[in-house]
Amino acid sequence: MPATPIYLDNNSTTAVDTLVVDEMLPTFSTHYGNPSSDVHAFGWYAAELVAIARERVGSLLDARPEEIVFTSGATESNNLALKGAVDALLARGAAPVRIVTATTEHRAVLDPLVTLKQSGRADVTFIEVDGEGRLDEPSYKEAVSRSPALVSLMLANNEIGTVHPIARYAAAARAAGAIFHCDATQALGKIPVRVDELGVDLLSLSAHKMHGPKGAGALYVRGVPPAFPLVGLNDGGGQERGLRSGTLNVPGIVGLGKAAQIALAELGAAQSKLDALTRRFIDSLSATGTDFVINGPAAGRLPGNLNLSFEGLENASLVAELQGKVAFSVSSACHSTSKTPSHVLRALRIPESRQRSAVRLGFSRMSTEEEAVRAAELFAQAVKKLR
Ligand code: PMP
Repeated sequence: MPATPIYLDNNSTTAVDTLVVDEMLPTFSTHYGNPSSDVHAFGWYAAELVAIARERVGSLLDARPEEIVFTSGATESNNLALKGAVDALLARGAAPVRIVTATTEHRAVLDPLVTLKQSGRADVTFIEVDGEGRLDEPSYKEAVSRSPALVSLMLANNEIGTVHPIARYAAAARAAGAIFHCDATQALGKIPVRVDELGVDLLSLSAHKMHGPKGAGALYVRGVPPAFPLVGLNDGGGQERGLRSGTLNVPGIVGLGKAAQIALAELGAAQSKLDALTRRFIDSLSATGTDFVINGPAAGRLPGNLNLSFEGLENASLVAELQGKVAFSVSSACHSTSKTPSHVLRALRIPESRQRSAVRLGFSRMSTEEEAVRAAELFAQAVKKLR
Protein backbone atom coordinates (compact mmCIF):
# COMPACT_ATOMS: atom_id res chain seq x y z
CA MET A 1 0.00 0.00 0.00
CA PRO A 2 1.71 3.27 -1.07
CA ALA A 3 0.07 5.72 1.37
CA THR A 4 -1.54 4.74 4.64
CA PRO A 5 -5.03 6.15 4.67
CA ILE A 6 -6.95 6.83 7.87
CA TYR A 7 -8.76 3.58 8.53
CA LEU A 8 -12.47 4.18 9.09
CA ASP A 9 -13.88 0.85 7.97
CA ASN A 10 -14.03 -0.89 11.33
CA ASN A 11 -17.55 -2.24 10.79
CA SER A 12 -15.99 -4.22 7.96
CA THR A 13 -13.03 -5.52 9.91
CA THR A 14 -10.66 -4.39 12.66
CA ALA A 15 -6.92 -4.50 13.30
CA VAL A 16 -5.86 -7.49 15.37
CA ASP A 17 -4.77 -6.35 18.84
CA THR A 18 -1.05 -7.08 19.36
CA LEU A 19 -1.94 -8.80 22.66
CA VAL A 20 -4.12 -11.16 20.60
CA VAL A 21 -1.28 -11.82 18.13
CA ASP A 22 1.10 -12.56 21.01
CA GLU A 23 -1.20 -15.26 22.35
CA MET A 24 -1.79 -16.76 18.91
CA LEU A 25 1.84 -17.03 17.78
CA PRO A 26 2.94 -20.05 19.88
CA THR A 27 -0.04 -22.05 18.60
CA PHE A 28 1.43 -22.22 15.08
CA SER A 29 4.82 -23.87 15.52
CA THR A 30 5.17 -24.70 19.21
CA HIS A 31 1.79 -25.62 20.67
CA TYR A 32 0.43 -27.01 17.42
CA GLY A 33 -1.33 -30.09 18.76
CA ASN A 34 -4.82 -31.16 17.77
CA PRO A 35 -7.14 -30.73 20.77
CA SER A 36 -8.84 -33.99 19.78
CA SER A 37 -5.55 -35.94 20.23
CA ASP A 38 -6.19 -37.00 23.80
CA VAL A 39 -3.30 -39.42 24.30
CA HIS A 40 -0.31 -37.04 24.35
CA ALA A 41 0.85 -33.71 25.71
CA PHE A 42 0.55 -31.82 22.40
CA GLY A 43 -3.15 -32.59 22.26
CA TRP A 44 -3.70 -31.99 25.97
CA TYR A 45 -2.06 -28.58 25.81
CA ALA A 46 -4.06 -27.53 22.76
CA ALA A 47 -7.25 -28.71 24.48
CA GLU A 48 -6.32 -26.58 27.49
CA LEU A 49 -5.83 -23.51 25.29
CA VAL A 50 -9.23 -24.11 23.70
CA ALA A 51 -10.81 -24.50 27.14
CA ILE A 52 -9.36 -21.14 28.25
CA ALA A 53 -10.73 -19.49 25.10
CA ARG A 54 -14.14 -21.09 25.68
CA GLU A 55 -14.19 -19.66 29.23
CA ARG A 56 -13.32 -16.20 27.93
CA VAL A 57 -15.97 -16.18 25.21
CA GLY A 58 -18.48 -17.52 27.74
CA SER A 59 -17.60 -14.68 30.14
CA LEU A 60 -18.01 -12.07 27.43
CA LEU A 61 -21.57 -13.31 26.82
CA ASP A 62 -22.34 -14.21 30.44
CA ALA A 63 -22.86 -17.77 29.20
CA ARG A 64 -21.53 -21.15 30.35
CA PRO A 65 -18.34 -22.17 28.50
CA GLU A 66 -19.99 -25.42 27.38
CA GLU A 67 -22.61 -23.39 25.53
CA ILE A 68 -20.01 -21.96 23.11
CA VAL A 69 -19.56 -23.67 19.71
CA PHE A 70 -16.50 -22.48 17.79
CA THR A 71 -17.01 -21.78 14.08
CA SER A 72 -15.19 -20.04 11.24
CA GLY A 73 -17.03 -16.75 11.81
CA ALA A 74 -20.46 -15.21 11.94
CA THR A 75 -21.48 -16.35 8.46
CA GLU A 76 -21.01 -19.96 9.51
CA SER A 77 -22.61 -19.33 12.92
CA ASN A 78 -25.70 -17.87 11.24
CA ASN A 79 -25.90 -20.75 8.75
CA LEU A 80 -25.52 -23.30 11.54
CA ALA A 81 -28.16 -21.61 13.71
CA LEU A 82 -30.75 -21.23 10.96
CA LYS A 83 -30.24 -24.32 8.80
CA GLY A 84 -29.32 -26.46 11.81
CA ALA A 85 -32.53 -25.52 13.63
CA VAL A 86 -34.70 -25.96 10.53
CA ASP A 87 -33.21 -29.39 9.72
CA ALA A 88 -33.79 -30.51 13.31
CA LEU A 89 -37.34 -29.14 13.34
CA LEU A 90 -38.11 -30.84 10.02
CA ALA A 91 -36.94 -34.16 11.40
CA ARG A 92 -39.71 -33.79 14.00
CA GLY A 93 -42.54 -32.26 12.00
CA ALA A 94 -43.93 -31.15 8.68
CA ALA A 95 -42.47 -28.57 6.30
CA PRO A 96 -42.36 -25.66 5.95
CA VAL A 97 -40.91 -24.28 9.18
CA ARG A 98 -42.34 -20.84 9.91
CA ILE A 99 -39.59 -18.23 10.38
CA VAL A 100 -39.65 -14.48 11.12
CA THR A 101 -36.78 -12.10 10.34
CA ALA A 102 -36.28 -8.49 9.20
CA THR A 103 -35.45 -6.95 5.82
CA THR A 104 -32.31 -5.25 7.18
CA GLU A 105 -30.52 -8.36 8.43
CA HIS A 106 -27.03 -9.15 7.14
CA ARG A 107 -26.79 -11.25 3.97
CA ALA A 108 -25.38 -14.04 6.15
CA VAL A 109 -28.88 -14.33 7.67
CA LEU A 110 -31.03 -13.37 4.69
CA ASP A 111 -29.36 -15.67 2.16
CA PRO A 112 -29.58 -18.90 4.22
CA LEU A 113 -33.25 -18.05 4.83
CA VAL A 114 -33.85 -17.49 1.12
CA THR A 115 -32.23 -20.88 0.43
CA LEU A 116 -34.50 -22.51 3.03
CA LYS A 117 -37.51 -20.80 1.52
CA GLN A 118 -36.67 -21.69 -2.07
CA SER A 119 -36.19 -25.35 -1.18
CA GLY A 120 -39.63 -25.43 0.47
CA ARG A 121 -38.19 -26.08 3.92
CA ALA A 122 -39.22 -22.73 5.39
CA ASP A 123 -41.89 -20.09 5.11
CA VAL A 124 -40.16 -16.79 5.89
CA THR A 125 -41.78 -13.50 6.94
CA PHE A 126 -39.55 -10.45 6.42
CA ILE A 127 -40.57 -7.61 8.78
CA GLU A 128 -40.12 -4.13 7.34
CA VAL A 129 -38.45 -1.22 9.12
CA ASP A 130 -39.00 2.53 9.51
CA GLY A 131 -36.73 5.30 8.22
CA GLU A 132 -34.21 4.70 11.02
CA GLY A 133 -34.15 0.93 10.68
CA ARG A 134 -36.49 0.09 13.57
CA LEU A 135 -38.83 -2.87 13.15
CA ASP A 136 -42.45 -2.24 12.35
CA GLU A 137 -43.67 -3.47 15.73
CA PRO A 138 -47.34 -4.16 14.84
CA SER A 139 -46.13 -6.39 11.95
CA TYR A 140 -43.68 -8.15 14.27
CA LYS A 141 -46.37 -8.74 16.88
CA GLU A 142 -48.71 -10.09 14.23
CA ALA A 143 -46.03 -12.39 12.78
CA VAL A 144 -45.14 -13.73 16.23
CA SER A 145 -48.82 -14.34 17.03
CA ARG A 146 -48.87 -16.84 14.14
CA SER A 147 -46.55 -19.12 16.19
CA PRO A 148 -43.29 -19.14 14.22
CA ALA A 149 -40.84 -21.90 15.08
CA LEU A 150 -37.80 -19.64 14.69
CA VAL A 151 -37.13 -15.89 14.87
CA SER A 152 -33.82 -14.31 13.79
CA LEU A 153 -33.07 -10.64 14.49
CA MET A 154 -29.74 -8.84 14.75
CA LEU A 155 -28.67 -6.85 17.80
CA ALA A 156 -26.97 -3.99 15.92
CA ASN A 157 -27.11 -3.24 12.22
CA ASN A 158 -23.73 -3.31 10.45
CA GLU A 159 -24.56 -0.51 7.99
CA ILE A 160 -26.73 2.02 9.81
CA GLY A 161 -26.05 1.20 13.47
CA THR A 162 -29.63 0.64 14.58
CA VAL A 163 -29.59 -1.14 17.96
CA HIS A 164 -32.69 -3.30 18.33
CA PRO A 165 -34.52 -3.96 21.65
CA ILE A 166 -33.72 -7.66 21.40
CA ALA A 167 -34.75 -8.52 24.98
CA ARG A 168 -38.30 -7.41 24.20
CA TYR A 169 -38.42 -9.10 20.80
CA ALA A 170 -36.94 -12.33 22.16
CA ALA A 171 -39.37 -12.44 25.09
CA ALA A 172 -42.33 -12.13 22.71
CA ALA A 173 -40.94 -14.78 20.36
CA ARG A 174 -40.10 -17.27 23.08
CA ALA A 175 -43.49 -16.73 24.79
CA ALA A 176 -44.98 -17.83 21.46
CA GLY A 177 -42.80 -20.96 21.52
CA ALA A 178 -40.18 -19.87 18.97
CA ILE A 179 -36.44 -20.47 19.07
CA PHE A 180 -34.74 -17.03 19.07
CA HIS A 181 -31.50 -16.43 17.16
CA CYS A 182 -29.59 -13.14 17.34
CA ASP A 183 -26.72 -12.04 15.09
CA ALA A 184 -24.72 -9.94 17.57
CA THR A 185 -21.59 -9.71 15.39
CA GLN A 186 -21.37 -5.90 15.35
CA ALA A 187 -22.30 -5.36 18.98
CA LEU A 188 -19.53 -7.21 20.83
CA GLY A 189 -17.02 -4.94 22.51
CA LYS A 190 -19.25 -1.91 21.90
CA ILE A 191 -22.41 -2.52 23.92
CA PRO A 192 -23.20 -5.13 26.61
CA VAL A 193 -24.21 -8.52 25.18
CA ARG A 194 -25.46 -10.93 27.87
CA VAL A 195 -27.39 -13.94 26.69
CA ASP A 196 -29.72 -14.16 29.70
CA GLU A 197 -30.53 -10.46 29.71
CA LEU A 198 -31.25 -10.66 26.00
CA GLY A 199 -33.14 -13.93 26.45
CA VAL A 200 -31.75 -15.51 23.30
CA ASP A 201 -31.36 -19.21 22.45
CA LEU A 202 -28.69 -18.78 19.77
CA LEU A 203 -26.25 -15.91 19.24
CA SER A 204 -23.62 -15.41 16.52
CA LEU A 205 -20.33 -13.55 16.81
CA SER A 206 -17.09 -13.08 14.90
CA ALA A 207 -13.55 -12.42 16.15
CA HIS A 208 -12.47 -10.04 13.39
CA LYS A 209 -15.03 -7.38 14.30
CA MET A 210 -13.51 -7.04 17.78
CA HIS A 211 -9.76 -6.94 17.13
CA GLY A 212 -9.41 -10.70 16.76
CA PRO A 213 -8.38 -12.75 13.71
CA LYS A 214 -10.46 -13.41 10.60
CA GLY A 215 -11.91 -16.87 10.15
CA ALA A 216 -12.81 -17.43 13.80
CA GLY A 217 -16.18 -17.03 15.45
CA ALA A 218 -18.69 -18.73 17.67
CA LEU A 219 -22.31 -19.67 18.05
CA TYR A 220 -23.79 -19.52 21.53
CA VAL A 221 -26.20 -22.45 21.92
CA ARG A 222 -28.38 -22.38 25.04
CA GLY A 223 -28.30 -25.55 27.11
CA VAL A 224 -26.20 -28.72 27.19
CA PRO A 225 -27.65 -30.60 25.37
CA PRO A 226 -29.30 -27.76 23.43
CA ALA A 227 -32.59 -26.64 24.96
CA PHE A 228 -34.28 -26.89 21.52
CA PRO A 229 -33.92 -28.85 18.26
CA LEU A 230 -30.56 -28.20 16.54
CA VAL A 231 -28.29 -30.35 14.38
CA GLY A 232 -24.83 -29.69 12.96
CA LEU A 233 -24.33 -29.12 9.24
CA ASN A 234 -21.02 -31.00 8.85
CA ASP A 235 -20.74 -34.77 9.04
CA GLY A 236 -17.38 -35.74 10.47
CA GLY A 237 -15.46 -36.04 13.69
CA GLY A 238 -18.26 -34.80 15.94
CA GLN A 239 -16.29 -31.91 17.50
CA GLU A 240 -18.09 -29.11 19.36
CA ARG A 241 -20.85 -31.27 20.83
CA GLY A 242 -21.45 -32.77 17.38
CA LEU A 243 -22.65 -29.36 16.19
CA ARG A 244 -19.53 -28.42 14.24
CA SER A 245 -17.40 -31.29 13.01
CA GLY A 246 -13.90 -30.39 11.86
CA THR A 247 -10.49 -30.00 13.50
CA LEU A 248 -10.58 -26.94 15.71
CA ASN A 249 -8.84 -23.80 14.44
CA VAL A 250 -6.69 -23.48 17.56
CA PRO A 251 -4.86 -20.26 16.56
CA GLY A 252 -8.15 -18.61 15.62
CA ILE A 253 -9.90 -19.84 18.75
CA VAL A 254 -7.05 -18.64 20.98
CA GLY A 255 -7.20 -15.27 19.21
CA LEU A 256 -10.97 -15.08 19.61
CA GLY A 257 -10.64 -15.91 23.30
CA LYS A 258 -8.07 -13.19 23.92
CA ALA A 259 -10.09 -10.66 21.89
CA ALA A 260 -13.17 -11.57 23.96
CA GLN A 261 -11.28 -11.12 27.22
CA ILE A 262 -10.06 -7.67 26.14
CA ALA A 263 -13.48 -6.70 24.73
CA LEU A 264 -15.07 -7.42 28.11
CA ALA A 265 -12.39 -5.60 30.12
CA GLU A 266 -12.45 -2.56 27.80
CA LEU A 267 -16.20 -2.39 27.18
CA GLY A 268 -17.00 0.73 29.19
CA ALA A 269 -13.96 2.67 27.95
CA ALA A 270 -14.49 1.55 24.34
CA GLN A 271 -18.13 2.56 24.38
CA SER A 272 -17.42 6.11 25.56
CA LYS A 273 -14.39 6.49 23.30
CA LEU A 274 -16.34 5.37 20.23
CA ASP A 275 -19.20 7.76 21.04
CA ALA A 276 -16.74 10.62 21.55
CA LEU A 277 -14.94 9.90 18.25
CA THR A 278 -18.12 9.84 16.19
CA ARG A 279 -19.33 13.03 17.86
CA ARG A 280 -15.97 14.65 17.19
CA PHE A 281 -16.13 13.69 13.51
CA ILE A 282 -19.70 15.00 13.15
CA ASP A 283 -18.89 18.26 14.95
CA SER A 284 -15.75 18.82 12.87
CA LEU A 285 -17.60 18.12 9.62
CA SER A 286 -20.51 20.40 10.63
CA ALA A 287 -18.04 23.17 11.51
CA THR A 288 -16.81 23.22 7.89
CA GLY A 289 -20.35 24.03 6.71
CA THR A 290 -20.57 20.81 4.68
CA ASP A 291 -24.12 19.61 3.97
CA PHE A 292 -24.76 16.01 4.97
CA VAL A 293 -27.50 13.84 6.43
CA ILE A 294 -27.16 10.94 8.83
CA ASN A 295 -28.71 7.64 7.78
CA GLY A 296 -30.04 5.44 10.57
CA PRO A 297 -30.96 6.59 14.06
CA ALA A 298 -29.98 10.11 15.14
CA ALA A 299 -29.39 8.90 18.71
CA GLY A 300 -28.73 5.62 20.48
CA ARG A 301 -26.92 4.01 17.56
CA LEU A 302 -24.14 1.45 17.70
CA PRO A 303 -21.05 3.23 19.13
CA GLY A 304 -18.49 3.99 16.43
CA ASN A 305 -20.83 3.57 13.46
CA LEU A 306 -21.76 6.41 11.11
CA ASN A 307 -23.64 6.36 7.83
CA LEU A 308 -23.77 9.67 5.99
CA SER A 309 -25.16 10.93 2.70
CA PHE A 310 -23.80 13.89 0.77
CA GLU A 311 -26.72 14.54 -1.51
CA GLY A 312 -25.99 15.46 -5.09
CA LEU A 313 -22.82 13.32 -5.12
CA GLU A 314 -22.19 9.69 -6.03
CA ASN A 315 -20.46 7.75 -3.28
CA ALA A 316 -18.12 6.24 -5.90
CA SER A 317 -16.72 9.71 -6.65
CA LEU A 318 -16.06 10.26 -2.95
CA VAL A 319 -14.24 6.93 -2.82
CA ALA A 320 -12.10 8.02 -5.79
CA GLU A 321 -11.45 11.50 -4.39
CA LEU A 322 -10.45 10.18 -0.96
CA GLN A 323 -8.46 7.22 -2.28
CA GLY A 324 -5.24 6.91 -0.29
CA LYS A 325 -6.51 9.38 2.31
CA VAL A 326 -9.46 7.78 4.08
CA ALA A 327 -10.53 4.12 3.94
CA PHE A 328 -14.28 3.71 4.33
CA SER A 329 -17.08 1.78 2.68
CA VAL A 330 -20.02 2.63 0.48
CA SER A 331 -22.28 -0.16 1.65
CA SER A 332 -21.70 -3.35 3.55
CA ALA A 333 -18.17 -4.34 2.50
CA CYS A 334 -19.02 -7.99 3.11
CA HIS A 335 -21.00 -8.13 -0.12
CA SER A 336 -19.59 -5.14 -1.95
CA THR A 337 -18.14 -7.38 -4.69
CA SER A 338 -21.71 -7.50 -6.04
CA LYS A 339 -21.84 -3.68 -6.33
CA THR A 340 -25.59 -3.78 -5.85
CA PRO A 341 -27.16 -0.94 -3.89
CA SER A 342 -27.40 -1.65 -0.18
CA HIS A 343 -30.56 -3.61 0.71
CA VAL A 344 -30.45 -1.91 4.12
CA LEU A 345 -30.61 1.65 2.75
CA ARG A 346 -33.31 0.54 0.32
CA ALA A 347 -35.33 -0.86 3.23
CA LEU A 348 -35.33 2.62 4.85
CA ARG A 349 -37.19 3.99 1.81
CA ILE A 350 -34.95 7.05 1.70
CA PRO A 351 -34.63 8.87 -1.66
CA GLU A 352 -32.44 7.16 -4.26
CA SER A 353 -30.11 10.17 -4.43
CA ARG A 354 -29.48 9.75 -0.71
CA GLN A 355 -28.79 6.03 -1.11
CA ARG A 356 -26.37 6.65 -3.95
CA SER A 357 -24.38 9.21 -1.94
CA ALA A 358 -24.18 7.16 1.27
CA VAL A 359 -20.89 6.25 2.91
CA ARG A 360 -20.30 4.14 5.99
CA LEU A 361 -17.64 5.10 8.51
CA GLY A 362 -16.64 2.93 11.43
CA PHE A 363 -14.33 3.93 14.28
CA SER A 364 -12.62 1.45 16.59
CA ARG A 365 -11.17 1.77 20.09
CA MET A 366 -7.80 2.11 18.30
CA SER A 367 -8.92 5.17 16.31
CA THR A 368 -7.68 8.54 17.52
CA GLU A 369 -9.22 11.97 17.92
CA GLU A 370 -6.68 13.40 15.44
CA GLU A 371 -7.83 10.85 12.87
CA ALA A 372 -11.47 11.80 13.43
CA VAL A 373 -10.74 15.52 12.98
CA ARG A 374 -8.44 15.01 9.98
CA ALA A 375 -10.90 12.64 8.27
CA ALA A 376 -13.68 15.22 8.70
CA GLU A 377 -11.45 17.88 7.05
CA LEU A 378 -10.63 15.51 4.19
CA PHE A 379 -14.31 14.71 3.64
CA ALA A 380 -15.19 18.41 3.70
CA GLN A 381 -12.50 19.19 1.08
CA ALA A 382 -13.56 16.30 -1.14
CA VAL A 383 -17.25 17.19 -0.99
CA LYS A 384 -16.49 20.86 -1.74
CA LYS A 385 -14.36 19.92 -4.74
CA LEU A 386 -16.93 17.48 -6.14
CA ARG A 387 -19.89 19.81 -5.61
N1 PMP B 1 -23.30 -10.54 10.53
C1 PMP B 1 -23.02 -9.23 10.62
C2 PMP B 1 -24.00 -8.30 11.27
C3 PMP B 1 -21.82 -8.75 10.10
O1 PMP B 1 -21.55 -7.44 10.15
C4 PMP B 1 -20.92 -9.65 9.48
C5 PMP B 1 -19.62 -9.17 8.89
N2 PMP B 1 -19.75 -8.11 8.01
C6 PMP B 1 -21.26 -11.00 9.42
C7 PMP B 1 -22.46 -11.40 9.97
C8 PMP B 1 -20.35 -12.00 8.79
O2 PMP B 1 -19.28 -12.26 9.62
P1 PMP B 1 -17.98 -13.08 9.15
O3 PMP B 1 -17.17 -12.13 8.35
O4 PMP B 1 -17.33 -13.49 10.41
O5 PMP B 1 -18.46 -14.26 8.38
